[in-house]
Amino acid sequence: MAAALVSSLSLLRTSRLALPYATRSIAFSHLSLGSLTASFTPLRPQRFVRHITASSNEEAAAKTAVDTGGPTIFDKIIAKEIPSDIVYEDDKVLAFRDINPQAPVHILIIPKLRDGLTQLSKAEARHGEILGQLLYASKIVAEKEGIAEGFRVVINNGPDACQSVYHLHLHVIGGRQLKWPPG
Ligand code: AMP
Repeated sequence: MAAALVSSLSLLRTSRLALPYATRSIAFSHLSLGSLTASFTPLRPQRFVRHITASSNEEAAAKTAVDTGGPTIFDKIIAKEIPSDIVYEDDKVLAFRDINPQAPVHILIIPKLRDGLTQLSKAEARHGEILGQLLYASKIVAEKEGIAEGFRVVINNGPDACQSVYHLHLHVIGGRQLKWPPG
């Protein structure tokens, strides 16, 4: 019985998608198996732990980031001076995979010409066209990535929203069940 349980938990542990259900299984076994559970190391939802770590890193990065109006890492990506995994590009926008993905699909979409758009709160009426193009590109990217049935577009604006790169960018996130409200 114990062996069967451990083996089924091992299976669950190897499946990223099953992790939330694994935690439910642990709670159930704790109720029903008495002393057996005393020797269990609780199975922690690794994806959640990773998410907390990533969130902490993002907060730390955002606290040190300053909107100087100067060049950012994204300028190097646009200039192809550093590698990136580009998924879509036209004459106005560039879309590439986030280096620290928060979901199976996590794409950043940026304007190739920043034109003062270090963050959304710097937008002026003249930016209307590029803002529309960025949003439209998010739909194209979602279709290309096969997540058009459910995806989220996020713009982090400023330190309180964990913005760490001061070149306006849209996060297109999907490929898993997204939660609401966001953190
Ligand atoms: P934000 O925190 O909203 O400013 O988002 C900035 C995003 O840029 C973060 O999700 C980072 O993981 C991502 N990022 C930073 N450097 C790179 C890079 N070289 N390639 C791809 N994504 C990056």
